[in-house]
Amino acid sequence: MRPFTYERAASPADAAAKAASIPGAHFIAGGTNLLDLMKLQIETPAHLIDVNGLGLDTIEETPDGGLRIGALVRNTDLAADARVRRHYGVLSRALVAGASGQLRNVATTAGNLLQRTRCPYFYDPNQPCNKRQPGSGCSAIGGVTRSLGVIGTSNACIATHPSDMAVAMRVLDATVETVRPDGGSRAIPIADLHRLPGDAPHVETVLERGELITAVTLPRPVGGAQLYHKVRDRASYAFALVSVAAIVQPDGGDGGGNGIAWGRVALGGVAPKPWRVEAAEAHLKQGAKQTTALLLAGARPTPDNAFKIKLAERTLAAVLREARA
Ligand SMILES: Cc1cc2nc3c(=O)[nH]c(=O)nc-3n(C[C@H](O)[C@H](O)[C@H](O)COP(=O)(O)OP(=O)(O)OC[C@H]3O[C@@H](n4cnc5c(N)ncnc54)[C@H](O)[C@@H]3O)c2cc1C
Ligand code: SF4
Repeated sequence: MRPFTYERAASPADAAAKAASIPGAHFIAGGTNLLDLMKLQIETPAHLIDVNGLGLDTIEETPDGGLRIGALVRNTDLAADARVRRHYGVLSRALVAGASGQLRNVATTAGNLLQRTRCPYFYDPNQPCNKRQPGSGCSAIGGVTRSLGVIGTSNACIATHPSDMAVAMRVLDATVETVRPDGGSRAIPIADLHRLPGDAPHVETVLERGELITAVTLPRPVGGAQLYHKVRDRASYAFALVSVAAIVQPDGGDGGGNGIAWGRVALGGVAPKPWRVEAAEAHLKQGAKQTTALLLAGARPTPDNAFKIKLAERTLAAVLREARA
């Protein structure tokens, strides 16, 4: 690990201003991703700004009946919150499908959203990687791609975003609140937080340098059956090959369709960001095959990972079956 300096931020505005003005400064929250990357010298911050003491660790109800989740709320606490379990079940389920109990005890809401990809070549400093070293090339293209993306990718990068929680937040239409280095704040719809790689895969979000996430807000509950199915190579402690976050309202059998009145769906494990195509959701009544065809229209799988398309369809079919039941 390279030497670095460390300080505890005094306030969100102080953290953002310092992160923007000190060369090589990085925020640290739970550290479960950043410290691993520092040990491998994939991230080499010169200065760490610890945001754990900023009091951003509460979950509050909003005036419009939603929830405001502090950026430092731990994944375990968020998953266990009675309001989340009751009204935002897809979020609770996605959280407990991620990592391990010990990691979730430390991992934070903001850190989870901003965790880096799990592309194996990104983690190997001996291999070219446009995300790690812009312009160096992409070792995954033409390499081993089983776990990598099938849609939203580019000729520069085919990595996926690894978060389970973010997929649930996408289907819940969450909003990310931030403080900017000039002290101003803004609200970013989660749909717009993560960027597609294009020709600059190292630029992963729309956050500006030093911008601090302070909270994530969820709109008032929409009801429905809320499910998260994650398919992975082993039963726990593994990232998704494919995951489906869904909110589905069964029609009670009188809707004339396949038992679905309306629904929302987002996919994980297939793209550089949680993947949701709202126009596809009108087709949930026609079933998983039609919906997945629209969700993944334009997919560019590799021979290694083309199975993800059928796997997404089957996982969505299982989710719809469970929702109807
Ligand atoms: C073995 C292992 C297995 C895992 N399995 C899964 C899994 O199955 N599913 C899954 O979803 N995740 C998984 N994870 C990832 C884990 O969920 C993340 O490491 C964790 O959520 C990151 O949160 P953190 O608070 O520790 O972030 P940190 O490591 O502290 O920070 C991560 C990034 O976020 C930035 N950051 C932190 N807080 C803020 C803020 N408030 N504003 C702006 N930037 C900020 C940091 O600068 C850093 O760049 C796994 C991790 C490990 C080590
Ligand atoms: S897919 Fe992206 S992260 Fe993986 S090697 Fe290529 S550029 Fe790097």
